[in-house]
Amino acid sequence: MSGHHSLAKIVSAKLLLVATLSTTPTLLQAQSDNELPIADAHVHYSHDSVELTPPERVIEIMREAGLKFALVSSSDDNGTQLLSKLAPDLIIPGLRPYRRRGELSSWFTDPAALEYVEQLLSTNRYASIGEFHIYGDDAELPIPKRIVQLAEQHNLVLHAHADADAVERLLAQSDKVKVLWAHSGFDEPEAIAAMLAKHDRLWADLAFRSEVGSGGSLSKEWLALFKDHPDRMMLGTDTYTPERMYFIPSHADSARVWLKSLSDELAEKVAWKNAYDLLMPIWEENKQSSSTACNAVATTDKTILKSQNYSVHLEPTKTIQVGDAVSIKMTFCGDTAPNTSLSLDATMPAHGHGTNYKHEHSIEARSANTVQYLVEGVVLHMPGQWQWEVEVRAGGARETLTHSFSVQ
Ligand SMILES: [Zn+2]
Repeated sequence: MSGHHSLAKIVSAKLLLVATLSTTPTLLQAQSDNELPIADAHVHYSHDSVELTPPERVIEIMREAGLKFALVSSSDDNGTQLLSKLAPDLIIPGLRPYRRRGELSSWFTDPAALEYVEQLLSTNRYASIGEFHIYGDDAELPIPKRIVQLAEQHNLVLHAHADADAVERLLAQSDKVKVLWAHSGFDEPEAIAAMLAKHDRLWADLAFRSEVGSGGSLSKEWLALFKDHPDRMMLGTDTYTPERMYFIPSHADSARVWLKSLSDELAEKVAWKNAYDLLMPIWEENKQSSSTACNAVATTDKTILKSQNYSVHLEPTKTIQVGDAVSIKMTFCGDTAPNTSLSLDATMPAHGHGTNYKHEHSIEARSANTVQYLVEGVVLHMPGQWQWEVEVRAGGARETLTHSFSVQ
């Protein structure tokens, strides 16, 4: 009897110990601290996914997965913006040039896709343009070329689902722009390594590459790639269909298993640091700028007129020639009052006259920091010395900014 009694005591004492251990907050804390953080550089939250899974749930899934952050781009952009607003600490927004599912083989010849990108760049902030699909010499078409220019002007990484040929053509169009190679081009590790060795502005994600580390460890080819290019590879799930949103945690977990084939330092780089080092400085810089439209690097044909508290950017949509009607994009950059308004004119001070034609001003976009106009039908009817005159009415004050230029 007494023996039974003491056994019961021991059992209950053990149960108590287990119960105490499993609820000790410090132990739980230690467990989650040990879980390797993951950066998911390839998430889409497109229109059909938004319908299926509310943004609050997506953020929960990402937190459950132990994501440090995710690079999100969506068709259309709405999904990305919903997530960004809910969890700005977790979401790095990318700008996808697709308005709906199914534009992946038409966008690069569709002027409306480019307009859509330019419009979003004028109002929102991003770290990348992509993910977009492009193959071979299609990368040389006017719309992809313009996308490369925009990436350079707006400090954005190009996230390209592309073959090696197209990646090289994109890189060759700029000496600054960085490319994140989606799915590492579905190439073999040796071919990826060769591309990384050749191009120092190239990084690669492993989205939808379930063969990497399948069975829980890395093949010697993949090991060699990570060791030879420790700073360039990163992870991604690719949630290109709505149900794949729910794969984010299992994807992170299976990566944590095969990452054990690497040294702790290298595992951490592939898990999140490489993505962080590539994307975070860019995102920090871009999100702090009042507007990407205002942050754009001055191009040869862009004129910036500065006042004490704001600037006005003028950008002709084509080269100005005598007698040829041109449209000018005019952007006010600074704190905007609701009634901030601008008008543009061109004058010839030496002749005491302006343009002989009436041009139309239409507001294209307005945010807290910008007002954008398109001024159409500007005709400079003779060669000589001209002057832009921008009248700015803001906060009850009126100011005229001028800039001289010549037309041959
Ligand atoms: Zn892709």
